[in-house]
Amino acid sequence: MSRVLVIGAGGVGSVAVHKMAMNTDIFSHITLASRTKSKCDAIAKSVLERTGVTIDTAAIDADDVAATTALIKSAKPALVVNLALPYQDLAIMDACLASGVNYLDTANYEPRDEAKFEYSWQWAYQDRFKDAGLMALLGSGFDPGVTSVFTTYTKKHLLDRIDTLDILDCNGGDTGLPFATNFNPEINLREVTAPSRHWESGQWIEGPALSHKQVFDFEGVGPKNMYLMYHEELESLAKFYPEIKRIRFWMTFGDSYLKHLEVLGNVGMTSIEPMMFQGREIIPMELLKALLPEPSSLGPLTKGKTNIGTIATGEKDGKARTVYVKNICDHEEAYAETGNQAVSYTTGVPAMIGAAMMLTGKWKGEGVFNMEQLDPDPFMDMLNQHGLPWTVEDLDAPLAF
Ligand code: NDP
Repeated sequence: MSRVLVIGAGGVGSVAVHKMAMNTDIFSHITLASRTKSKCDAIAKSVLERTGVTIDTAAIDADDVAATTALIKSAKPALVVNLALPYQDLAIMDACLASGVNYLDTANYEPRDEAKFEYSWQWAYQDRFKDAGLMALLGSGFDPGVTSVFTTYTKKHLLDRIDTLDILDCNGGDTGLPFATNFNPEINLREVTAPSRHWESGQWIEGPALSHKQVFDFEGVGPKNMYLMYHEELESLAKFYPEIKRIRFWMTFGDSYLKHLEVLGNVGMTSIEPMMFQGREIIPMELLKALLPEPSSLGPLTKGKTNIGTIATGEKDGKARTVYVKNICDHEEAYAETGNQAVSYTTGVPAMIGAAMMLTGKWKGEGVFNMEQLDPDPFMDMLNQHGLPWTVEDLDAPLAF
């Protein structure tokens, strides 16, 4: 039975808090804090209606380390779950160190002025968390997160040696809107417009954004174009699994989404370079975010399924084997349960499970950890019990290039 402080009241924060409130044996008291308190209050109202659990809410600017430290000291949590934006990661880690509390997030730190998607800043906290006897768990969403746990599960139970790993992320959901991103638009567009990069034979191979694609028939969705992209879990998987010769990440996009993106890019709206507009400095991407629908408003509109998984090739008992581990999640079912669509659901549920792993002591350690470093079994069990069941399937052949 533990107290928890969740920071961030977007779609992911909303799902995580609803799921925590459904597990009061682990999460005995929940405080939800975010920049806009009214969003926390709206989530608290929904949590009370759906689960009968009352949670505390607070306003916080998590960029302010002193204010966040004071909030942690007054809320007295055993764990801070950071579901704000990647920009806040280091400030919240600093506040956790200042108040002696464990930390969890779902996305790696990003400076506002450069899209890097790398763990270097957070891995640099290793000694400080270790010396303080605290644990920081990085990337407890779906990807990174569940896909990293799928990889460790594959290595523990399905393959003696992994040679290649492909992560396939398909959102077959349709909002009926001409253009919307299914999680924070700024972070989503930064990811999609970054050069593609994958790990092969000990080095990173880079190419232009969205320049390589193939069709894959996703169960529950159908055939979709998926594009080779860089995604942050590639860095930690390459570090912790040096045996894997090639690691790639693929994400599906519809033609209309890509057409909008191309036009927005051509006119400069996806730029993160500050510019002067009518005497004021603005960042075009931030203006675009303000114009696009809030991901948390897409719940009632989205129909269809997500299908995210890992295909690994390697050897088991001396024989070649290819295994596909995946979860399929239905947008409308996710919305009925928590009031949020499946992209928020598939991130918020693993955030709750990662928090449960830490609070129950099933995962413990001192220092900074990525998901693939920890025992996959209790996490995989909780996925099955809490709305993200997974399957294992043998494939006849590896993914084509
Ligand atoms: P949203 O943009 O919907 O929500 C972010 C929330 O953080 C908002 O409530 C926002 O407040 C709050 N926030 C922003 N800045 C601050 C600040 N300085 N202080 C306090 N609160 C702040 O994002 P999502 O819910 O879609 O995503 C949340 C996180 O999950 C992101 O880091 C995202 O990258 C990550 N993610 C990870 C995935 C994975 O699979 N690993 C997949 C999808 C998302 P306000 O409303 O006032 O702006």
